[in-house]
Amino acid sequence: MYIVHSSKDLQEELLKWFSQHGRHWIPWKLNENGCRPSVGEKISPYGIWIAEVMLQQTQLKVVLRYWEKWMKVFPLLDDLANADEQEILLNWQGLGYYSRAKRLHQSSQLLIDFIGENNSLNLSCRPVELSQWMTLTGIGRSTAGSILSSAFDLPNPILDGNVTRILSRLIASDQPILKDQKRLWNLSTQLVPLRNSRDFNQALMDFGSTFCTVNNPKCSVCPIQKFCKAFLKYDPIDFPKKNMKKVIAVQEIGIALIFNKNGELLIDQRLESSNMGGMWEFPGGKKELNESIQKTILREVKEELDIDIDVGEKLLSFQHLYSHKKLNFVVHLCQWKSGEPKALSSQKFLWVSPEKLSDFPFPAANIKIISAIYKHLGIERLKKCKSLID
Ligand code: SF4
Repeated sequence: MYIVHSSKDLQEELLKWFSQHGRHWIPWKLNENGCRPSVGEKISPYGIWIAEVMLQQTQLKVVLRYWEKWMKVFPLLDDLANADEQEILLNWQGLGYYSRAKRLHQSSQLLIDFIGENNSLNLSCRPVELSQWMTLTGIGRSTAGSILSSAFDLPNPILDGNVTRILSRLIASDQPILKDQKRLWNLSTQLVPLRNSRDFNQALMDFGSTFCTVNNPKCSVCPIQKFCKAFLKYDPIDFPKKNMKKVIAVQEIGIALIFNKNGELLIDQRLESSNMGGMWEFPGGKKELNESIQKTILREVKEELDIDIDVGEKLLSFQHLYSHKKLNFVVHLCQWKSGEPKALSSQKFLWVSPEKLSDFPFPAANIKIISAIYKHLGIERLKKCKSLID
């Protein structure tokens, strides 16, 4: 392969760039003394694993805040394994994709099994097998490789989005990313050095994130431009070649904010088996073809809780984008009319005063609704909730 013969020079150039421009401050990549680990030094993989999972669908600048808070509440693997799921979801609130929090909880027990009960408080040297990390739900080869090289300085290759872009440009790959995985993995494997792989992998990630960016690669001053086929022969912006674009459907969702005579609001808890299971939400559901949103709300509330309500004015509407769909939420203020609620399609329901909403873990889209309720009712936001909403 084109690049292999020059891999040593390329490694050196990237490491030189990293020593001057790398993001050496990322907290989960530091040792217990808050310093960059030396070559071969082992650090605990616990915080790295937590950060990797948070970063799967969330940007670094957001993750930093959540990670710091998480590590204060659950500083050790045992703290996470012994925690109550509602507490975990509450500390994840605002990050979205809550299945990640549940996976961390479930995987913490598996990790303890790998490490051994008596050693789980000290994670500093295990597990070292790529296959063991990949056994954890949601941890793929690249994340497992990143954990091992970041924690133990082991020469495991990585292939996240940033690394994929750099490697595709280096070889001017004419294949869409998904079709070129084998070649890109081979290249990453060939490039990662046996010694100081931690810095090399971090250099690749930082270089992709800050220098060889999607739309604005700094090619004219790039230290590895002589190795880059996309720069030498083509326009680097054209790489990597795009996969076919997914068409994202928009679905309209009617949401009911049902108040009783005491001014309490009805919330229900999603079934454990469902997406975002265990989280709380306001009743409602998908609008059917040719149905008004008011009719949707009446029908969904009847189906979910077997009660009758009056649908009042619209409080707000907004769109929320998920990885595979876009939902348009239309939220109405409603009044309970008759019938005792039954949890027909949820684990349970509760009447709660609006001030108490921040005590429950809600999916990210619902946080916007809570904010609107507080504004509508003129409620001073609770401090705890404010930090989640702003
Ligand atoms: Fe990226 Fe440009 Fe450098 Fe190639 S020359 S690696 S495209 S910054």
